[in-house]
Amino acid sequence: MRALLVLIFCLFGVAVGATAPVVLDIGHQSTASGAATPDGSLNEYEFWCTYAGEVKSAIEEAGYPCVVLNRGMAPTKKPILAACRAAGVVQLNKPDKGAKRYPSTHYPEHIGCGMVSADHAIDLGARCVVFLHLNSTGHKWQSKPVAGLIICNRKFGSPLAERVCAAMRRELPSLSKGIKVLPRYIGSQPSAGWMNALDAAGIPAIVFEAFYVNNRTHVDFLRADANARKLARTIAAGVVDWLSQSE
Ligand SMILES: [Zn+2]
Repeated sequence: MRALLVLIFCLFGVAVGATAPVVLDIGHQSTASGAATPDGSLNEYEFWCTYAGEVKSAIEEAGYPCVVLNRGMAPTKKPILAACRAAGVVQLNKPDKGAKRYPSTHYPEHIGCGMVSADHAIDLGARCVVFLHLNSTGHKWQSKPVAGLIICNRKFGSPLAERVCAAMRRELPSLSKGIKVLPRYIGSQPSAGWMNALDAAGIPAIVFEAFYVNNRTHVDFLRADANARKLARTIAAGVVDWLSQSE
């Protein structure tokens, strides 16, 4: 009887593990599009609305379920809306106002901005969460390259972050010089409560911040559709490396 119960538990566990989705979250929202190039022609929100679907496709092609979230309302620009629809983006329809901080519904002791995405990922029983962003050091073009960051939650995120870093170094070496993993948590950054909430739920989480929209080399690269898709697939490759190692 005991052996039977163990078997049932194991089969159930495998089934749950197999269906727990990778959650991708499009950074920012239609009403606050995040960092932009100095000329305003490219911003991180629209970029990831356009290419999150490519990350998702690559993860699904490797045999893992994947869901894309966005914490704001649906985009209003037609091509951006079409890309989000094609990727099946789940709009959480709860825009954050002015980076206001609020408690997690699951772990109210953790307070941060962007918490609605973390809470939804916890609702879904996410296998891991990848927050898709582009970085910036200011409103002017900068010529000196700044090292990219893969931010992770402190307890559970670093093996996933290391895999994505390794994929970046392997696939995009000239654009990944100095790329490094950086834990983020309350204490390291006041608004980082959403990373703590995911840690509390035992969910590895990373924030992709390895490209800068005020770096001309990075932006020239990102503007070409084939390159943007290569970046999306490189992130996915790192996630899939981690998934296959953690099975
Ligand atoms: Zn951002």
